[in-house]
Amino acid sequence: MRRKLVAGNWKMHGSLAENRALLAALVPATRGLDRVDVAVCVPFPYLQQAQELLSGTHMLWGAQDASRHAKGAFTGEVSAQMIAEFGARYVIVGHSERRSYHGESDALVAAKCQAVLNAGLTPIVCLGERLEERERGETEAVVARQLEAVMDSLGVAALSGCVLAYEPVWAIGTGRTATPDQAQEVHAYLRRRVAERDGAVAARLTLLYGGSVKGSNAQALFSMPDIDGGLIGGASLVSEEFIAICRAAQA
Ligand code: PEP
Repeated sequence: MRRKLVAGNWKMHGSLAENRALLAALVPATRGLDRVDVAVCVPFPYLQQAQELLSGTHMLWGAQDASRHAKGAFTGEVSAQMIAEFGARYVIVGHSERRSYHGESDALVAAKCQAVLNAGLTPIVCLGERLEERERGETEAVVARQLEAVMDSLGVAALSGCVLAYEPVWAIGTGRTATPDQAQEVHAYLRRRVAERDGAVAARLTLLYGGSVKGSNAQALFSMPDIDGGLIGGASLVSEEFIAICRAAQA
């Protein structure tokens, strides 16, 4: 009943020439996948190129962060409205790399989520525990805290305009993937937490898994009942891998 979504997170990779080649491979190869939305979240300078190359195709595009502010004296920041001008659909917020390298708090992530919604875009809100938190048995407490920061500040209804991405920090870029059962357990927990506030919002909520997804493990993950697709880092830069992941979501 929920449509699958596979979103690439290019992080700080790419060049005009590399992006052109990658998108030229992805567009025809993912065109027939009618049960999957396919998106790429690109560095800010490449939003214009994404718009130029993907407008009129089935593929969607987005950014990897946005300011909490709509405009003003915030040197170096980029507003969600600016991103929207380039035809984007998605903005990743609260990626663990931003939480850890830029000290982004749960409250800031919630404010960014609101700013993205205000611009008419869909935030992909990332949550996930660090390895030591998992080892201390704190996974559910951590993801609940991260989720509730958004629900408390925006209201549960706002989640109907959001995508959530469960990304265990220990699985990001490490080659170590959560098993389908481990991921499903957390996804089901997150959906239950949303359902406690609004069952209909929870049932419709798109919940992505992210963390070392590859062509070889995607299908097992995506076949779990509460996993609605993936947020893909490293493998989104390799056309054959990303295409294989998108095909696994269609299966
Ligand atoms: C990510 O950056 O969101 C991610 C999941 O990275 P990777 O697929 O490389 O683990």
